[in-house]
Parts: sequence; C-alpha cells; structure tokens
Amino acid sequence: MIIDANDLSHGDLLSADVCIVGAGAAGISMALDLADSALDVIVLESGGLKREQAVQNLYSGTVSDGRLHSPPDRYRQRRFGGTTTIWGGRCMPLDPIDFEQRDFMPHSGWPIEREALMPYYPGANRLCEAGEFAYTAAAAFALPLRPMIAGFESPYFTTDTLERFSCPTDFGARYGRRLRAARNIRVILHSNVTAIELDPAGTRVASVAIRTLGGKVLSARAAQFVLAAGGLEVARLLLASRSVQARGIGNTHDLVGRYYMCHLAGTVGALNINRPLDAVWHGYDISDEGIYCRRRIALTADAQRQYRIGNFVARLHHPRITDPAHRNAILSLLFLAKFVIPYEYGKRLHGGEGASLSTWLAHVRNVAAGPLDAAQFAMHMLKDRKLAERKFPSIIIKPKANLFSLDFHAEQQPNPVSRVTLMNEVDAVGMPKLNVDWQYTSTDVTTVERAVALFAEEIHRTGLGTFVYDPASIVFEMTRYGAYGGHHIGTARMGNDPRSSVVDADCRVHGVDNLSIASAAVFPTSSQANPTLTIVALALRLAARLRAEAKAAISIRQSFA
Ligand SMILES: Cc1cc2nc3c(=O)[nH]c(=O)nc-3n(C[C@H](O)[C@H](O)[C@H](O)COP(=O)(O)OP(=O)(O)OC[C@H]3O[C@@H](n4cnc5c(N)ncnc54)[C@H](O)[C@@H]3O)c2cc1C
Repeated sequence: MIIDANDLSHGDLLSADVCIVGAGAAGISMALDLADSALDVIVLESGGLKREQAVQNLYSGTVSDGRLHSPPDRYRQRRFGGTTTIWGGRCMPLDPIDFEQRDFMPHSGWPIEREALMPYYPGANRLCEAGEFAYTAAAAFALPLRPMIAGFESPYFTTDTLERFSCPTDFGARYGRRLRAARNIRVILHSNVTAIELDPAGTRVASVAIRTLGGKVLSARAAQFVLAAGGLEVARLLLASRSVQARGIGNTHDLVGRYYMCHLAGTVGALNINRPLDAVWHGYDISDEGIYCRRRIALTADAQRQYRIGNFVARLHHPRITDPAHRNAILSLLFLAKFVIPYEYGKRLHGGEGASLSTWLAHVRNVAAGPLDAAQFAMHMLKDRKLAERKFPSIIIKPKANLFSLDFHAEQQPNPVSRVTLMNEVDAVGMPKLNVDWQYTSTDVTTVERAVALFAEEIHRTGLGTFVYDPASIVFEMTRYGAYGGHHIGTARMGNDPRSSVVDADCRVHGVDNLSIASAAVFPTSSQANPTLTIVALALRLAARLRAEAKAAISIRQSFA
C-alpha cells in the first residue's frame, strides 16, 4: 500500500521487520524484491508522487566551488521514484578491473569481486528495462554489427562493449502499482527521515525520526534499517545522527562523506576518418528485444595497468553545439532551444558560457540555411523521444563527413579530500544542510590525458585519419561543466577494515548490526560506468541477504520452540 504521512497522527510509531529510507532506484528495487515475502516492510519516502518545490528544497545546500559542482538540489530528485524520474537510462555493469586493488590507483579495491554481483545484474537489468544482460555486441546481436570504425584494431581499445538503454524507466511510475498491491509493503510518502537513533551501546539502530513539512513528528522501529536515500543524502543522514556517536554514525574514523566521486567527462578534439561515410557507425543499434544499444571506444584493462591510469570510455560525438562554426542546422536548433531543455541536460549540451549576440545570430543563420534538416530532426525528437514509450536516448547527428569529436567518460580516483560535510544552517525539517567540496586529482588528469593521447596515436598508427586536439586543453575540457552531475559515489565506502571504510562487504555499517546502505555511496571506486545498474544489483544483493537472515532467525526460533 502507499499512504501519506500527512494522514498519520502526530507521535505515531510505525513498526516493521525492514525499514527502507528512500524510494528511488535502490529503495524501490529492494522493496520489489521483498514484496510478498514473509517480511513486513516500510519504505519511508520524503517526496510525494509528483515533484513539489518545498520538498525539493530539502536538498538545497552549498558547494565549495560552483565552477566544479552544481548546487546539491540539482541532478537529484526528492520524490517517489527519486532521480530515476529524470535519469538518462544508460546502463552498463562495472568492469572486473574496477574491483581490483590497483597500486597505481590510491584507495582502490573492493572487498568483493564482480562475480559477487553477477547473480544480481540480470535482475537489475530487468528492473531497469534494459533487456538481457549482454554487454558486448557479440553476445547481444545474432549477426555481426557493422564496424564502429572499419579497420580500427588496437591493443589498447576495444569497440565491442555496449551500453544499453533503459526506457528510461521512472521507477516510481513503473513500479508504484506493484508496491501498492503488495500485501507486506507500506510506502509512506512525505515522511522525511531526520535522524537515526542508536541504542545506548551504539551497536544497533533503535528507531528513525520522521518529520513532515507540516510539523508532524513520527518514528519508525524495525529489525533492519536500510538507507537508500542517494549518494549524498546517505552521508548527510549518517553525519547528522549524532545522539550516541558524537561524530555521526559509522564515522569514528572520519570517513563518512569523504572520497566523494562523480565521473570525469568532456568533449575533446577533432577526429577525421579518411574513409567513406559508411566506414564509421556512431549511432545506436537496436537489439532483438527493441533495446537501444551503443558501442563505445573502451580502454582495455591491460592498457590501464600498463599506463597506470583509471578506466576510460569514449563515444564518437558531434561537434561542440555552442560553436556555430559547425554550420549544422540541427546543432544550432538545439542551441536556440536551450531554454526549454531541463537544466540537468541543458548544462552539458550548451555550456555555461554566455553567448554573444553575434553567436546567436550565427546559430539563427545555420538553422535558416538548413530548414529541412532542422524540421526533420524536430519531428524525430517529437516522435522517437517525446512521444515514444522507449525514448531515443540522445542526439545523434548523421554526419555529412566523417568528422567527430570525442566524448569521454572516465573513472575518478577516490580522494579523501573530496568530501561532503554538514553546515550549521538547517532545512525546513531541522536537518543540517550539506556542503559539497568535490575535488579532482592529478591522477584524474593523467587518466584522461594519457587515454586521449593513446587514442590519437592509434588513429595515426592505423592510418585511418587524424585526431587533432590540444593536450593543454584537457584539464579545461574535463572541468568545463564541472563534475559529471547525477553520479554521487563513494561517501560511505565499502571495505573490510573499519579504519578505512564505512560499510562491510555486505553493505552493513561497521559496528551497527542492523543498519545497511543501498546506494552508490558504498562504491569504493567509480569505474567508467554509469552507476545505476550496479546500485540496483547491490540493492538486490542486500535484499537477498535480509531475506536469508530473517529466514535463519525464524528457523532458530522454531528450533527452540
Ligand atoms: C540528469 C541525470 C541523468 C542521469 N542519467 C543516468 C544514466 O544514464 N545512467 C545511470 O546509471 N545513472 C544516471 N543518473 C543517475 C541516477 O539517476 C542515480 O544513480 C540513481 O537514481 C540513484 O539511485 P538512488 O536510489 O541511490 O537515489 P535516488 O534515485 O536519488 O533516490 C533517493 C530517494 O531517497 C529519498 N530521500 C532522500 N532523503 C530522504 C530522507 N531524509 N527521508 C526519506 N527519503 C529520502 C528521495 O526523495 C529519493 O526518492 C542520472 C542522474 C541525473 C540527474
């Protein structure tokens, strides 16, 4: 059932076997997995079924450097369905190397291998509606696909790994009905968890405190608690819960909120492939199940080890939209339409720089010079993106020549100095607001510099054309739009040693038996991959553990009866 905290009475105490805080990708996936089990589950969700500004404001906070990170109320959504209500739907698993302890990547190493997630990835793929768990072209397509760049064979890069696209599935809209129908699930909307209350010994959660924006105070008790409030909010909740552990829960060693990672992303260079137009394919392939898939240029694990750099992928991309020198009517149309595109997508599409009048006029001239192209593109966007249930994932411009830029997405080094902390100022339900101090390191710069240089060398070596870029521009390009928004990683990292991690390999907060975390907050490293598929896989793994533990507890009780 789905109910509203505003309909409960001031002072009510809710109780359940499992209490999940947050109904986004992680929280909803866990609740679905526990639906119709023997466990009584409550899901405490701050938002309602729609976006409400007063609720969204609870995410507001500050950033140390506005050039490097967006305000914390951007790139996440505080409502039922969480940030999946606006996500892009790009899905891919982490690579095996991401889990390894790499001597060239400080603070790397997960306490689990990718194998531990393999039983859960296919289920995660199903929930994300991304089709079968097949992430190479060879595994996903019965017939060979046309090459991405004909003749590009490199010991350093592969071109056969895929990203698969979700609808993108809004977890709230898609799964709300199933949760409403489940006899053992209660989703409680408009219930803001403001603190986690530990027992006096500090080893178990006794309850969580809940407040509504209207001023009602409630609480919830459960045998098991799961924080699934997103990568920034998990840290905020742990740090703000100081009644027993003075530095915040799980924070004895001052780790909560540190190692905050996003991804490094940007667009560089001019790639010119001197082959016929059909020798290059940079668009989508559609799998038999109707899923949009796209191949990328991916740095191999061996190349990462050899050059001692992080994980890296890149896509062939259209020229920079903001610069009217591309003379492309479609790109200029997008520039002119910037005001109707949501902030989270518009920012990266158009850049933050204020355009001059002459730039605007040049874009208008581009559109006027290609009205048919612009009209066809507008129709395609309306039909295949706006009105389609499974949306065309991104802007693909059919090139008139084999000219592209390189759009990269790279791993960020875990860095203890990159962190989120609490401010003195509180929000409308009395929780300290968050300050985000995202920072990058020289390792991050080297990863992108080296990988881009390698790509240029390989294009040159294979004789396929040229890749021209300014090596001095890499730092500028990878920070042009700041940290890649929406991927909030590492603030409650996983590890075996409580002195260097917040949760154990089972996602349980060290030293607090009944508190677990379902979020990218637990990722010790960021990979090149977008995080949501792995967030969901980890959530399903956690749900399986809670079910198994509950079953074991029942059978022990029965054996004593
Ligand atoms: C524009 C954009 C595009 C993206 N595209 C992609 C993509 O292509 N691929 C990808 O993998 N990822 C993408 N992401 C990231 C993706 O949306 C997140 O990884 C994912 O939603 C995180 O899931 P989550 O459950 O951890 O957090 P969320 O989905 O944010 O859910 C957290 C939930 O907790 C609730 N909550 C928060 N605080 C409290 C509290 N105190 N009490 C009660 N409830 C609370 C919130 O209301 C929310 O419902 C994108 C993000 C953005 C912004």
